[in-house]
Amino acid sequence: MAKIVVANWKENPQSQKEAEVLFKGTFLLAKFRENTRIIICPPFPYLYLSGKFKNKKVFLGAQNVGKEEGGSYTGEVSPKMLSDMGADFAIVGHGEERLLGETNEIINAKILNLLKFKLSPILCVGESERDKEGNYLSFVEGQVKDCLLAVPKAQMKNIIIAYEPIWAIGANATREATKEEFMEMKIFIKKVISDIYDGKIAHSIPILYGGSVNPANASQFVDGGKADGLLVGRDSLDPKKFGAILNALN
Ligand code: PEP
Repeated sequence: MAKIVVANWKENPQSQKEAEVLFKGTFLLAKFRENTRIIICPPFPYLYLSGKFKNKKVFLGAQNVGKEEGGSYTGEVSPKMLSDMGADFAIVGHGEERLLGETNEIINAKILNLLKFKLSPILCVGESERDKEGNYLSFVEGQVKDCLLAVPKAQMKNIIIAYEPIWAIGANATREATKEEFMEMKIFIKKVISDIYDGKIAHSIPILYGGSVNPANASQFVDGGKADGLLVGRDSLDPKKFGAILNALN
């Protein structure tokens, strides 16, 4: 299976010009990488820029989506708008959105809304701390179950899950996860999926790792931790570093 690498640009860069340069650099990196599927998730205002570049291995994703189909919802963006801009994916449940009050219930509505319009959700899950008693496992189990509520079996082939422990993501990260921590969580999430659906779906669902991925640690998650791919924040903003991460996967 091709490895999936998601570039989450977050609230960057600050101008169209810089975004265009970043798109160009990232698209160039995708050349000759048969075994990697790159998904670029820029801020909404830059989605249109990806249309200037062509590469079948690079996909476009949004960083969020509204939970309604459209209408009187100030500040929201519908799945149909995203797909009209060329997006095939959208991140939902990102830790930084959850911190702003996004609940599992809202995330579930967003997932159902995306699937209705044939977009693939990249569902982020992850605990804010690892306690010795292992409560973080039931916390993530709750996230997976609640966010996937009423998602039909037939739609599960369109879902990607990213394990992103809150303590490992963004500028306030304390450290990245170890490959063992990732592996444990990957097996655990697959067991949860198997309990809800079946073993076949659990086997095929891609589980990515995200949180302080950099050129030096990227291969440990994929080779050692058997991640199906990576979700990269900060280091996706520098094509040199992002290229080195892609190289580490091959
Ligand atoms: C993220 O927040 O999704 C993320 C992976 O960020 P970073 O790589 O910067 O930790």
